[in-house]
Amino acid sequence: MILIDGKKAAAELRAELKQEVTELREKHNKVPGLTVILIGDLTPSQIYVRNKEKSANEVGLKSEVIKYPESVEEKTVLDKIKELNSDETVSGILVQLPLPKHINKQKVIETIDPSKDVDGFHPMNVGNLSSGYESSVPCTPLGCYLLIKKFEPNLNGKKAVVVGRSNLNGKPMTQLLLKENCTVTITHSKTKDLKAECLEADIIVAAVGIPELVRGDWVKKDAIVIDVGINKTDKGIVGDVHFDEVSKNAKAITPVPGGVGPMTIACLLKNTIDCFKRSQI
Ligand code: NAD
Repeated sequence: MILIDGKKAAAELRAELKQEVTELREKHNKVPGLTVILIGDLTPSQIYVRNKEKSANEVGLKSEVIKYPESVEEKTVLDKIKELNSDETVSGILVQLPLPKHINKQKVIETIDPSKDVDGFHPMNVGNLSSGYESSVPCTPLGCYLLIKKFEPNLNGKKAVVVGRSNLNGKPMTQLLLKENCTVTITHSKTKDLKAECLEADIIVAAVGIPELVRGDWVKKDAIVIDVGINKTDKGIVGDVHFDEVSKNAKAITPVPGGVGPMTIACLLKNTIDCFKRSQI
């Protein structure tokens, strides 16, 4: 069994991105800029945003965090997004989710200029991805995709099973695997026999939010298993895959933590740089 080291892969990606930013600075005399809007004082969101800012600075991006209190009016946020849309120094805009209840998430997402939508949540980017056109791709599935491709560059004809159908993970993951000519099955909470589906898979991507759902006898020998789950349990953070059992069968597996997680932030930086590059054409 091979451990797919997301921490190492993310560090390598950040080093490549840092080099790219240096080259972009020389060519354009400016660097890509990432602006994050953070509303309220939810601790996990604050930690995520702090890590995003730190990583952005590390690769040489211009980064800014705009903070609002929980009680901020929706209009104030929408007006700020519109201002950022027309600010040439801002290449990427991210509004940290979840949002307070009085703010309409869909409205916020749709107000972000699709060419600056580094989360890839705007319907225009979702549509472009499913049509096979160039688009921003949500950071977590993009990270999974890069890890899979690094390990197995040719995915032609592979059977992939995606567990979970969220807009954030499962659905974009399916599109990325389809683009690589995989035969993809997308499974979810109403799937009849999840074990039987998983047993067919050369590649399993689990993005469910149920600790250790995917068991050792659900996985055929030689499968690649990507675990997106981050679940707090009494024994600490665990994934959606039973690591000890599955690692005995699988050809390769991502650990939790240290697998998909580190790639997510690196992919946010990649998306910001890609938005900048597209804006310079
Ligand atoms: P979600 O709650 O939006 O979606 C979960 C999906 O799992 C749904 O489509 C649901 O149908 C499916 N599901 C639920 N029960 C199921 C079952 N018994 N069998 C099969 N499918 C079932 O979750 P999400 O936002 O996609 O997140 C999934 C997990 O990934 C969570 O643990 C989350 O913390 C983690 N996550 C990790 C990262 C990262 O950077 N590593 C990023 C985002 C989310």
